[in-house]
Amino acid sequence: MLKTYTSNIKKPISMTNDPWEAYNDMQSHNGLTLSNIEFTTTNLCNMRCSHCAVGYTLQTADPDPLPMDLIYRRLDEIPHLTTMSITGGEPMFSKKSIKNVVKPLLKYAYDRGIYVQMNSNLTLPLDRYLDIAEYIDVMHISHNWGTIESFTDVGFGAMEKQPPLKAKLKLYDQMITNSRTLSEQGMFVSAETMLNQSTVPYLKKIHQEIVNDMNCQRHEIHPMYPADFASQLEVLSLKEMKEAIHHLLDFRDPNTWMLFGTLPIYPCINDENDQVLLQRLRSTNNVSMRNDPDGRNRLNVNVFTGNVIVTDFGDENGTISNIKNDKLPDVFSQWLSSPLAQSLNCHCSEFSCLGPNVLVKNMYYQNTDFKSNEQRMHNIYQMS
Ligand code: SF4
Repeated sequence: MLKTYTSNIKKPISMTNDPWEAYNDMQSHNGLTLSNIEFTTTNLCNMRCSHCAVGYTLQTADPDPLPMDLIYRRLDEIPHLTTMSITGGEPMFSKKSIKNVVKPLLKYAYDRGIYVQMNSNLTLPLDRYLDIAEYIDVMHISHNWGTIESFTDVGFGAMEKQPPLKAKLKLYDQMITNSRTLSEQGMFVSAETMLNQSTVPYLKKIHQEIVNDMNCQRHEIHPMYPADFASQLEVLSLKEMKEAIHHLLDFRDPNTWMLFGTLPIYPCINDENDQVLLQRLRSTNNVSMRNDPDGRNRLNVNVFTGNVIVTDFGDENGTISNIKNDKLPDVFSQWLSSPLAQSLNCHCSEFSCLGPNVLVKNMYYQNTDFKSNEQRMHNIYQMS
């Protein structure tokens, strides 16, 4: 590490303090700002989920990572770095990766007062997670398992040689008990469910398991968009999506924070039903909505190659730079001025809205010109 930081006291994560919300930067820095780096720290995992963003690129051995000094230097160069996300593969799978990459990153974030989210499947032995508990602000887990068969099939859907059923079931139990134990010990565990044809029939069961059995503090709901990695699973029509959201709001546990991310519903769309749903989301207790961070305040860095992508639509856009050559704030500025980002990025302060990302636009709003919607909204609401 080049700079020396003194640890800041972080405010606990809550409905009113969501450090991953890209709109925070609009308020603090008056524009989209690089404040979040996601690191892909391993290509290894004990599962092979069909829906996993990296499920088909997972390997059996990791290459050597880049020198940590280079990674620290690139982080030091980001003046407004607020959050770090650690993803894989399963970041806690490889002991070598934990020692050489994950723990050094966690320590860096801790020293600099940066919030950390880890994306894990929580199926490994509990002591691995307890070992890093003090450094984790959000332990994020995907839960899309409406039936035990969906876990044993989809959870290993991209694996050539299937483990025995008994071993798969053991991992499911471990995930539930790990989540409960870590929550009871004070970790903020947030479970995410995708809205798609496979999960919608089971949303109530999944939600109840997340709240009652796993003791999660937050249930995140994200529509599934048809990026390559998810192409096997069926996406919902816009109408089905809105019905699913109403359905969730009908039965959810009112005491558990429900966070909706990347919703395809916008204040500028002239549809009365949309506006009713938005109003319901805004006025329901313990419910929040988050703008999509990808490309708004976040870049992803691969610690092995140094490649930088805009996560979730890396497939559309490819690698945009490499930290061996470029500073991350420069990469972010170049991304913001790219024709793709320029064609998408809109902003309506009246609604704290940052508009759709490329996947949302391609899926549901191919013929909508959000730039002209933005102009119209600015005129109506006299926004600058
Ligand atoms: S920011 Fe974009 S998507 Fe959101 S209300 Fe304004 S024009 Fe619509």
